[in-house]
Amino acid sequence: MMSKDRIIFHIDVNNAFLSWTATKLLSEGFNIDIRKIPSVIAGDENKRHGIVLAKSPIAKKYGIKTAETLYLARKKCPKLKVFPPDHEYYVKMSKKLFDYLYQFTPDIEIFSIDECFLDMTNTKYLYNNLLDLAYKIKDEIYDKFGFTVNIGVANNKLCAKMASDFEKPNKVHTLYEDEIEKKIWPLDVSELFMIGKSTSEKLRMLGINTIGELAQSDILLLRKHFKNQAVFLKDSANGKDDSPVEAYSDSNKCLSVSETFEADIKDINKIKSILLGQVYKISENLRSQNLYTQTVAVTIKTYDFKNFSKQRKLYTATNSSKDIYINICDLFEEIWDGTKVRNIGVRLSNFVGKRNKQVSIFDGDDEGDDKIDYIIDNIKDKYGCDSITIASLMKKDN
Ligand SMILES: [Mg+2]
Repeated sequence: MMSKDRIIFHIDVNNAFLSWTATKLLSEGFNIDIRKIPSVIAGDENKRHGIVLAKSPIAKKYGIKTAETLYLARKKCPKLKVFPPDHEYYVKMSKKLFDYLYQFTPDIEIFSIDECFLDMTNTKYLYNNLLDLAYKIKDEIYDKFGFTVNIGVANNKLCAKMASDFEKPNKVHTLYEDEIEKKIWPLDVSELFMIGKSTSEKLRMLGINTIGELAQSDILLLRKHFKNQAVFLKDSANGKDDSPVEAYSDSNKCLSVSETFEADIKDINKIKSILLGQVYKISENLRSQNLYTQTVAVTIKTYDFKNFSKQRKLYTATNSSKDIYINICDLFEEIWDGTKVRNIGVRLSNFVGKRNKQVSIFDGDDEGDDKIDYIIDNIKDKYGCDSITIASLMKKDN
């Protein structure tokens, strides 16, 4: 299929944590809309020294930044109002939003708690004008739930994501193929989706400051400095992306674990040992249900609150911790550029009940691995996964 024929929406809640807390407070009779005063959502002051998780537009005008300490934020604006996050409520609002969106297409990839991709390619014939539909969805979300979203409309996920990030809040933007030069080439290279801080700093040292400069840069130069990532970087700057919208299939079930750290982590060995603990925990859960996974994904949130995620379809369904761990480490190394991470997680989806044995030539002596897993399940406490949360997400049941 020509990429022009695809139509992808990226829907992103504006200032999700602050907006959701605002709607909750209003519904409880609180008479101030905290979106309209200098306010922030900030975590536990003792644990992370009160890191700012979200800020209102007025707080932003005072120079308050996401991920900075509450101490610093209060110095910038002494009359700042501070509210704690309510993750349980955020998950509820998130689910409400996604459930609402399933009426427009079953092909929805949930990217984070407040963002998703809708593949409208197969349903576009149902609607006269997809841009009108995007406006309608945006307005209906506000009417129904009381918070605003941005919607990016484009021919692939990368461009839809970039488009939804243009002017906020409460806006619909397009970024079709023929708009790429005009709309994203002038932007700073750090604005490119899936580019971390280390990569943009490295690019800058090579004299590449804008997305346009990256798009037109010498592939040999990029290859020298970024190896296998070179083509991906150049393609991204040209708005090229053919990754599919990965809807959770097979009863839309998904298992995920993730962990936010007390202090940001940069040490790859430490990260890998955390991933290992998560993989054991999650694959144990899978085995206890007699399920095998066909899709594995790793998710990263960097210290500056950027989300990265990559998933892979496996040749053979598996519930082996070792198989899953090898794939997770691969994926992690593909998307991590050395930026300090604040949260990492593992997600499994696309489950089957029985292993499809014949396909893979990569399967070794997996009877042995399976046995080891079952032994490990019985000594799981050793891995200290107490702070890991397991969530069965987003069932499409409306
Ligand atoms: Mg958002």
